[in-house]
Amino acid sequence: MPKKIRVLVNEDKCYLCGGCAGVCPTLAIEVSSSWRFIEEKCISCMICIKACPVGALSYEEVSQ
Ligand code: SF4
Ligand code: SF4
Repeated sequence: MPKKIRVLVNEDKCYLCGGCAGVCPTLAIEVSSSWRFIEEKCISCMICIKACPVGALSYEEVSQ
């Protein structure tokens, strides 16, 4: 079973560019005046983590 992750943001680094939300295939991230992760929608693909230009995203594994 592939691991399930929870994406975490470093708010000191994130400048709310919306890049991560733009690449997420399932719209599991919303960026407006704050950064928001919607865990139920996330398919743990990690695309957002690689896409952030300032390395503001990380993850932790969660039990299914
Ligand atoms: S890991 Fe994939 S599905 Fe989950 S928030 Fe990031 S881009 Fe979206
Ligand atoms: S791509 Fe990085 S800097 Fe841009 S909104 Fe997402 S977490 Fe923040």
